[in-house]
Amino acid sequence: MSRTMTTRCEASGADVADFFELVGRIQRGHTLAAAEALSALRAPDSQTMSLIAAAGMLRQAHFGRTVKVNYLVNLKSGLCAEDCSYCSQRLGSTSQILKYTWISTEEAAKQAQHGIDGGASRVCLVASGRGPSDRDVQRVADMIGRVKEDHPDVEVCACLGLLRERHAQKLAEAGADAYNHNINTAESLYDDICTTHSYQDRVDTVETAKGAGMSPCSGLIVGMGESDEQVVEAVFALREMGSDSIPVNFLMPFDGTPLEGTHELSPMQCLRILAMVRLACPDREVRIAGGREMHLRSLQSVALEVANSLFLGDYLTSEGQDAKDDVAMIADAGFTVLGHGDVAGTDAEPVPALRRRGTGTAARPNA
Ligand code: SF4
Repeated sequence: MSRTMTTRCEASGADVADFFELVGRIQRGHTLAAAEALSALRAPDSQTMSLIAAAGMLRQAHFGRTVKVNYLVNLKSGLCAEDCSYCSQRLGSTSQILKYTWISTEEAAKQAQHGIDGGASRVCLVASGRGPSDRDVQRVADMIGRVKEDHPDVEVCACLGLLRERHAQKLAEAGADAYNHNINTAESLYDDICTTHSYQDRVDTVETAKGAGMSPCSGLIVGMGESDEQVVEAVFALREMGSDSIPVNFLMPFDGTPLEGTHELSPMQCLRILAMVRLACPDREVRIAGGREMHLRSLQSVALEVANSLFLGDYLTSEGQDAKDDVAMIADAGFTVLGHGDVAGTDAEPVPALRRRGTGTAARPNA
């Protein structure tokens, strides 16, 4: 890369690639290298919007201005015997989450309907636990059949933990379009975040889902103490595995879990991570997943310039932004909900709120 094509990053002392030149090469078939990925992750705040604009060109080339909306239905919450340290449903978690066993097919269909009414074109049926039994798979197959019967055009993704081949086959036959199983972090960090199953177990499940013909959905969680190199390691592993959709979760450090109190991310760093995933996987669905409200904060809609997908409303055990605010955010930023065309940004035209506090009043000022 020529010196004229680089910009000196004073903060890190490293050369930061001209992101537009890099994107041009990616468009001509270049595969992002580790050093380039690290340059993106370590770009100074002052260059981060240039990075977003450049990576956004790849997003627009493959997904236009659409946002795919996904909706989570938590079929079984808590009560898990695994020990994933980031998870509020883990063994020994004292987090005050909702705990319940399998909901009925009827209830799953009803919950899915809410998400579809809100704009979702993919419903994600999720259950806690190491992996499903034969009976669990039959139960979920019935739910998939029911959602597909009501909404043949809506995609269904199942997320039930480690998967056996016969279970993968049954879910695919029932109509599951995709199977989610996140690798969560780099192989080199995996043993630090979970001891009850291995990184390889997770990779094997993604392969099993692929083998049965389901679209592999696998992503990561950032903010768990990993290095920049380990973020790159995880994202490149997802690229190698051929993950079709990549949820990027930002750690929500639930009280009562080992990662309680862990706050390592800034909104700008979250943007750089999403941009790097886009540079590495230009044509894959990149989803802003759990923790976006907490970590991206006022920059959530900027993140849509590189990510092309999000979850509507609430997560598995925590509440998200109001679903109507998600849809308004998409419209306000000039995007459309995939499969739903234009959506109204707000229900009503806003009117100015007349000041009734501060100077000239006895009420406390807004400062
Ligand atoms: S991530 Fe899944 S397997 Fe791990 S503790 Fe949570 S529910 Fe259990």
